Amino acid sequence: MSQYTVLNPATEQVVRTVELTSAEQTDEAIARAQVAQRAWRDLAPGDRAALLRAFADRIDAHVEELAQLEVANSGHPIGAARWEAGQIRDVVRYYAAAPERMMGKQIPVAGGLDVTFHEPIGVVGVIVPWNFPLPILSWGIAPALAAGNAVIAKPAEMTPLTAIRIGEIALEAGLPEGVLQILPGKGSVVGQRLVDHPGVGKIVFTGSTEVGQQIMAGCAKNIKRLTLELGGKSANIVFADADIAKAAAAAPAGVFDNAGQDCCARSRILVQASVYDRFMELLEPAVRGITVGDPASEQTQMGPLISAAHRATVAAYVPDDAPVAFRGSAPDGPGYWFAPTVLAPIGLDAPAYREEIFGPVVTVTPFTDEADAIRLANDTPYGLSGSLWTRDVGRAIRVARGVETGNLSVNSHSSVRYWTPFGGFKQSGLGRELGPDAVEHFTETKNVFISTQD
Ligand code: NAP
Ligand code: MG
Repeated sequence: MSQYTVLNPATEQVVRTVELTSAEQTDEAIARAQVAQRAWRDLAPGDRAALLRAFADRIDAHVEELAQLEVANSGHPIGAARWEAGQIRDVVRYYAAAPERMMGKQIPVAGGLDVTFHEPIGVVGVIVPWNFPLPILSWGIAPALAAGNAVIAKPAEMTPLTAIRIGEIALEAGLPEGVLQILPGKGSVVGQRLVDHPGVGKIVFTGSTEVGQQIMAGCAKNIKRLTLELGGKSANIVFADADIAKAAAAAPAGVFDNAGQDCCARSRILVQASVYDRFMELLEPAVRGITVGDPASEQTQMGPLISAAHRATVAAYVPDDAPVAFRGSAPDGPGYWFAPTVLAPIGLDAPAYREEIFGPVVTVTPFTDEADAIRLANDTPYGLSGSLWTRDVGRAIRVARGVETGNLSVNSHSSVRYWTPFGGFKQSGLGRELGPDAVEHFTETKNVFISTQD
């Protein structure tokens, strides 16, 4: 049996070793899930809802434990980790209201009664990345379970600990065996098996666009249902008529949150040329003022990157001759630290401007007018997130409609709200998670006609 050694990214110390699930064990888990799903589907809606509420309550009792575990496994600042652990509780609780509300339609027809049902798909595979182990796990499992599916979740190899704990908490809360299984293991083994196995009816994948393309091709063989949340290279557009001080003060959090390991990171700042110099003057102290350090400290705003390999990937975007405008700080010594870095001026062909870096590196580029801002924002294969800053309501609406992206904030960098839909245009994804409609995405619509003829 192979094992994975989990390292604390802030200290490089061993946290724990984890047994990796094999392909054969994955098949056994799928078989268990298929059996468990039939009973789960047949539970009275109110009973399924009550079990999900008990699950949320049990998570609530363990928020601090989960947060501390995430600090050790992922290096997230404790304040952020508490928010993440609270998010999985809230998402499970939100979707716990769904079983009793999965209403179909009654459609007028001649000679009978026509009704629709939302039937669960069966077994759903949720493949989770390392950047937000708890929130992204919850976005897949909660609506899938509420709809009456059994779920098998595969955490990222580097960050399995909180997911394993969630699997235990689910059983403690009374979820029947086999309804929610957590399989730590390799993407190329467990993830691949979930994609290939005909007993899994839907895959929810969050991660790189490259792996997402492979998964989509794999799902095609069985016409498997699929939701993809992939990369981003989102724009933060600052117009001259905006509150420039506010926009500059908020820009670092919009990209450096989670050390930039965020698919929604606003990693391209676009600033109207007439206020560019003023914006940069205000941005510099905001970036230098970010507290980077021990994730366990309440004061810390930014922790380390997830791994040595990932730090090397990020560092390759900032070679010695990179146009560094200014940088923040980072600790010396052990840990995968990388100082917040602002690149400007940057060529529009530069890899740092075009590619998702997934680290604390941001570019700043001037634009001339509204049309130029929209053109620059859309000049990317991605379309996940973005922000725009202006005091002109008409402009805010025009630009929000013009930018090809799934989630936009005006005069803020709002993070994901679980009761609103989330997902990407273009190569940032396929389908939507969260919000009021997510449960239906884990169902098949069945239309039944009942004749009233004698
Ligand atoms: P990744 O390779 O796409 O991994 C995401 C998840 O997919 C992990 O659980 C991974 O397992 C699994 N996986 C990998 N290969 C698979 C396969 N062939 N079949 C099924 N599942 C598979 O992402 P990464 O390598 O961790 O990160 C690379 C880059 O992806 C980042 O630098 C970033 O640009 C982007 N990314 C984006 C997001 C996002 O939120 N959109 C999240 C993470 C990463 P293992 O952990 O075992 O490999
Ligand atoms: Mg990978």
